[in-house]
Amino acid sequence: MARAKKKTRADKKTSRKKKPKDPRGLETYREMRDFGKTPEPAGKVRAKDGGPLLFVVQKHDATRLHYDFRLEWDGVLKSWAVPKGPSLNPKDRRLAVRTEDHPLEYGEFEGVIPEGEYGGGTVMIWDEGTYEMLDDVDPAVALKKGELRFTLDGRKLKGRWTLVRTGPQKWLLIKGRDMSADTTDVTVAQPRSVRTKRLLAEIARDEGGDVEKAATGDPAVSKASRPAKR
Ligand code: MN
Repeated sequence: MARAKKKTRADKKTSRKKKPKDPRGLETYREMRDFGKTPEPAGKVRAKDGGPLLFVVQKHDATRLHYDFRLEWDGVLKSWAVPKGPSLNPKDRRLAVRTEDHPLEYGEFEGVIPEGEYGGGTVMIWDEGTYEMLDDVDPAVALKKGELRFTLDGRKLKGRWTLVRTGPQKWLLIKGRDMSADTTDVTVAQPRSVRTKRLLAEIARDEGGDVEKAATGDPAVSKASRPAKR
């Protein structure tokens, strides 16, 4: 291919254009929060010596209930807010809005963000486990391309999944067609914390949150799924 021999003035101008702010790292995450007021971790970007990559899904009863879907990459948790939560039905395309990177420590957070603070409300660790990119694709390349294909090995979410970008921040989360696909609504059938077996209302009660508001995020049929007493 032919290459221009010398740069015109216009070329120079374009090349000097300001680069958009690097979306990686935790700058945005920290700017949005007052760590004197919220129990969320300030965290830091952490280098990991290999090992499996983690995923976590946090149910978050903020202004609007949503599920935060997070994949570990590059020392942080790449994050998407999924208003309806994940579906095991491959026919469903669940809107997933890309949000700011979170620290890895955030995957350990279950509790209450005070009202008035960013994301105020109850947070539950709804599912967690490890993930693997399909065909060993580099997640950084897939994120740039806007299409991540991976398998999840969680307690509730398993098998093949795809995240595909459809707009600047808009993605779709879609279950792959495999043995773990199902038409049961997993958010209703399995509404409890994978760590503590608590419902949102129970977390709010234990951590001094708004129990009534949190209860609106728990499915009405949740009593049926109460774990057996031992
Ligand atoms: Mn959230």
